[in-house]
Amino acid sequence: MSEAIDDIRHEPTPAPGREVVIEVAHVDKFFGEFQALRDINLTVRRGERIVICGPSGSGKSTLIRCLNRLEVHQAGTIVVDGVELTDNVKNIEAVRREVCMVFQHFNLFPHKTVLENLTLAPIWVRKMPRRDAEALAMKYLERVRIAEQAKKYPGQLSGGQQQRVAIARSLCMEPKIMLFDEPTSALDPEMVKEVLDVMVELAKEGMTMLCVTHEMGFAKQVADRVIFMDAGQIVEQNEPQAFFDNPQNERTKLFLSQIL
Ligand code: ADP
Ligand code: MG
Repeated sequence: MSEAIDDIRHEPTPAPGREVVIEVAHVDKFFGEFQALRDINLTVRRGERIVICGPSGSGKSTLIRCLNRLEVHQAGTIVVDGVELTDNVKNIEAVRREVCMVFQHFNLFPHKTVLENLTLAPIWVRKMPRRDAEALAMKYLERVRIAEQAKKYPGQLSGGQQQRVAIARSLCMEPKIMLFDEPTSALDPEMVKEVLDVMVELAKEGMTMLCVTHEMGFAKQVADRVIFMDAGQIVEQNEPQAFFDNPQNERTKLFLSQIL
């Protein structure tokens, strides 16, 4: 499926000295009594491309949702682009302007056109004049190769097209960091590649990305680092070749044996 995607790991891997854009330290997250994240520590540098994998229920979504405060952590600290995520609403808004999320089920507004889905946040959050917001939207729709669908409603598009619209919608916020939560797992197989291709292009352009995905071809070709989670913990992380060829932890080995 991914043979057409170039290997981009010759692109410079962010040097250890690159600016830290996400710092997660000793984070715990509970849903009632249930502990979904346990002592999570994670440092992400500008331009890094991280793939997060692990069994269902291991806390992958919860972790990335904590990074823009769609979930609230109970212990530890999360600092995004120099701003600590606490109850402070101004801080949360500041982080959400920098960090966009692409969801498994697209989360487009069904009663708005593609173009309206894209211009909403620029107009209301970035206070952009409508005409500028529409120009911006068309630029990013062209970028994901779907500009001709601008006047349609999401329900008139295929899943792959809807997900590309969702990515374009995020790009309209000109985010510094993009979070992807299994962006291809709700798609019919023939549509996976068109979405992955857009993600690969973003990676090539240097976008800082954290992607929850089980597309291991994508991980091998794009990721600087693969993180494996199980039972709310980061169990193992490594650069892709070492991660796939020489996993250290028994739980990682079991997981890889099941999906590869
Ligand atoms: P993953 O994305 O790795 O499949 P999640 O982060 O969605 O896992 O969930 C981790 C654990 O937290 C699961 O056991 C899940 O049932 C639980 N969980 C997630 N969201 C909630 C919630 N809103 N309320 C209660 N439990 C939740
Ligand atoms: Mg999930």
